[in-house]
Amino acid sequence: MRPFKYSRANDASQAVQLAVANKNAKFLAGGTNLLDLMKEDVERPTELVDVTRLKFTEIKASDGGISLGALAKNTDTANHPLVRQNYPLLTQAILAGASGQIRNMATNGGNLSQRTRCPYFYDVAMPCNKREPGTGCGAFEGLNRMHAIFGWSEKCVAVYPSDMAVALAALDAVVKVSGANGKERSIAFADFHRLPGDTPEKDNNLQPGDLITSIELPKNNFAAKSYYLKVRDRASYAFALVSVAAALETDGNTIKQARVAMGGVAHKPWRATEAEKVLAGKAATEAVFIQAAEAEMRNAKPLEHNRFKVELGKRAIVRALMMANGGAAASQGGASNG
Ligand SMILES: Cc1cc2nc3c(=O)[nH]c(=O)nc-3n(C[C@H](O)[C@H](O)[C@H](O)COP(=O)(O)OP(=O)(O)OC[C@H]3O[C@@H](n4cnc5c(N)ncnc54)[C@H](O)[C@@H]3O)c2cc1C
Ligand code: SF4
Repeated sequence: MRPFKYSRANDASQAVQLAVANKNAKFLAGGTNLLDLMKEDVERPTELVDVTRLKFTEIKASDGGISLGALAKNTDTANHPLVRQNYPLLTQAILAGASGQIRNMATNGGNLSQRTRCPYFYDVAMPCNKREPGTGCGAFEGLNRMHAIFGWSEKCVAVYPSDMAVALAALDAVVKVSGANGKERSIAFADFHRLPGDTPEKDNNLQPGDLITSIELPKNNFAAKSYYLKVRDRASYAFALVSVAAALETDGNTIKQARVAMGGVAHKPWRATEAEKVLAGKAATEAVFIQAAEAEMRNAKPLEHNRFKVELGKRAIVRALMMANGGAAASQGGASNG
């Protein structure tokens, strides 16, 4: 590992000031992603700004919804009674990710800012526009089985790996940020992560020095009917080939509102708006769920080695909606947890 300076921030403004003063500084939260990447020589910060002493650990009711501190641990978030009761989709998604030990260390802000698991990104001997802009994309014509089928560019076909973020996308979360000059701002979840375009080195729309302070979830009526389905290569911890967060609000058997988001398919959590449009106002039946899945997956653009994700995505959307609507495993909290 390369030498780096260690600084500890006592409050948010000090953390932001330290990060603004050194453009090669990084915030250190749980360290479960950042330290791995430093050991692999992929991330090379010259300074780590330790934010673990900051007070953003609270999970509390807020404006009819809930506020999740950026430094609350993933385990504490998943198991908080308010989250379990009102946002079970989020509990399922968090518990489907990583392992118990990692979730005990990982924070909510770190989870949102984790980097892609593209193997070319991790291998410093390979070209990768995300790691080193201008070197090319090893995956575009290489081994791209795990890669994107939506929203990619020839510069980068990576997928974003977080499970938690897929549920947050479906639940219309808002990310609160403390920025340079002490300015606070809110970023709608759909605008937080970004597609690669010509600048795949940028994973999200945070500005230099921006510190995530909390994630806000608005009140909703999805708690009774939601489900997170994660399809992966093995039952032990592994990143999603495809995942689906599905949530329904129904009146009798009519769908008043639907939320569908996908993981493992794009450079950001993919909100399945075409599927949602088909579902709104229709009867909650398997035939309608199939129509919705087909509408979404019609626009997929698979790469050479991941064509299977189109059919897999379709089936995963249907299955997640069936489970959300009361499938047997839903009552057992039966997401594919690891
Ligand atoms: C073996 C393994 C398996 C895993 N499996 C999964 C999985 O299946 N699904 C899944 O979703 N995740 C998985 N993960 C990833 C894990 O969820 C992330 O590593 C973790 O959530 C990152 O949180 P952290 O607090 O440790 O972040 P850190 O490693 O401390 O930081 C990650 C990044 O976030 C930035 N950051 C941290 N906090 C803030 C903040 N408040 N504001 C702005 N930037 C910030 C850091 O500067 C850094 O760039 C796995 C990880 C490992 C090691
Ligand atoms: S897909 Fe993105 S992360 Fe992977 S090699 Fe290409 S540029 Fe790098």
